[in-house]
Amino acid sequence: MKRTISDQLFEKAKTLFPGGVNSPVRAFKAVGGHPLFIERGEGAHIYDADGNGFIDFCCSYGPLILGHAPAEVVSAVNETVKKGTTFGAPTKLENELAEMIISNHSYIEKIRFVNSGTEAVMSGVRLARGYTGRDKIIKFEGCYHGHVDSLMVNAGSGLATLGTSSSAGVPEAYVKETIVLPLHDEDAVKKAIEEYKDDIACIIIEPIPANNGLLLQDKKFLQFLRDICTSEGIMLFFDEVISGFRVGFEGAAGLYGIAPDIISFGKIIGGGLPVGAYGASNEIMSCVAPDGPVYQAGTLSGNPVAMAAGKAQIKACLSDGFYENLERKAAGFAGEINAFAEAKGYAFKIFRVGSIFWVAFTEKEAIVRSSDIDQNSMANFKTLHGALLERGVYIGPSGFEVGFISRAHSSDDLKKAVAAFKESLEMIFG
Ligand SMILES: *Cc1c(COP(=O)(O)O)cnc(C)c1O
Repeated sequence: MKRTISDQLFEKAKTLFPGGVNSPVRAFKAVGGHPLFIERGEGAHIYDADGNGFIDFCCSYGPLILGHAPAEVVSAVNETVKKGTTFGAPTKLENELAEMIISNHSYIEKIRFVNSGTEAVMSGVRLARGYTGRDKIIKFEGCYHGHVDSLMVNAGSGLATLGTSSSAGVPEAYVKETIVLPLHDEDAVKKAIEEYKDDIACIIIEPIPANNGLLLQDKKFLQFLRDICTSEGIMLFFDEVISGFRVGFEGAAGLYGIAPDIISFGKIIGGGLPVGAYGASNEIMSCVAPDGPVYQAGTLSGNPVAMAAGKAQIKACLSDGFYENLERKAAGFAGEINAFAEAKGYAFKIFRVGSIFWVAFTEKEAIVRSSDIDQNSMANFKTLHGALLERGVYIGPSGFEVGFISRAHSSDDLKKAVAAFKESLEMIFG
């Protein structure tokens, strides 16, 4: 595979950006070599600057549930952008996207649009603190909530790959307000709450932890969190930036039937443009400015072009059979590869919920905590990543990242990808 142009672009990029990238996980640090510079995407396919084509399972880390350049999103963006890109005044498009979401989502009554998942979480945590008048928060090891200061404590994703547990530049004073607990451990939660009882504003969790492998939790654990939060006056905060509109329209809250107090959104909500949001009941949201004392604002929040893209994508998600279709495709894809690995006796498994999947070199039946991930298995991931690229399949360049299946992945795409996985695994284990 020729990578001459990507390599040249990366050399240039390194003189312009730290590590040559604008988000660390893009840097291919975990798998070696240089990142591919992408020229364009179409459906389930991406094409790099050297003209190589790939079936894409990274899908920009989650936003692209319709695949690349879906017709309805492209046309909505085109039509809207002609009328101006930002006004600093409300537009009808904000109402329309919000109404589409709220009227189809049982767990929020009011929403506020922001510009990224990080911003949504940051604002939601402030709201939890403002509403409860408490400072401390509980988070879980292996959950990533964006690069928010108080949440950069043993966070996952790029960080796990880079082998650091928190970021430089985060004041000790902030870290002190964050209690980090292992996932799937009721006793740890009980103990922390006993100790800090009246200081805890919220428990924040990725109800489907998908930034440090896919650490699927029991419904029982999530229900336990709901119950203890209710009894202690703590807010339950579901960070659904990745799971929202992905495992079903109502995300993990809907999948498990558990009502959080605050939900953050991102990724899918913006149709591939930069949008985040947080939502809650009318009562909780009435604390947010200008109704209430919790200040939060944004020059480009509710941006019309991004709202138009979000509307087009969210509308598609609401169409009949949308999630059933994704489920069927994803189950077939993962099922075939898993059956192959099992028949061959390979220590390899695809974990999956809906159209989110994670490839793991393991013999374990379930992995529910980041500490259960075998760090040594990442050498195999690196080989798999390279072998798949050579066979025209693109997955995120880290064994801690999950993959996604979109509406655009055809049965032919999936068949080819399954064949590429089988060949690659045979190469690794053979
Ligand atoms: C991606 C992600 C974020 C951060 O969103 P950005 O848009 O990258 O800032 C936060 N929380 C979760 C669960 C995510 O998956």
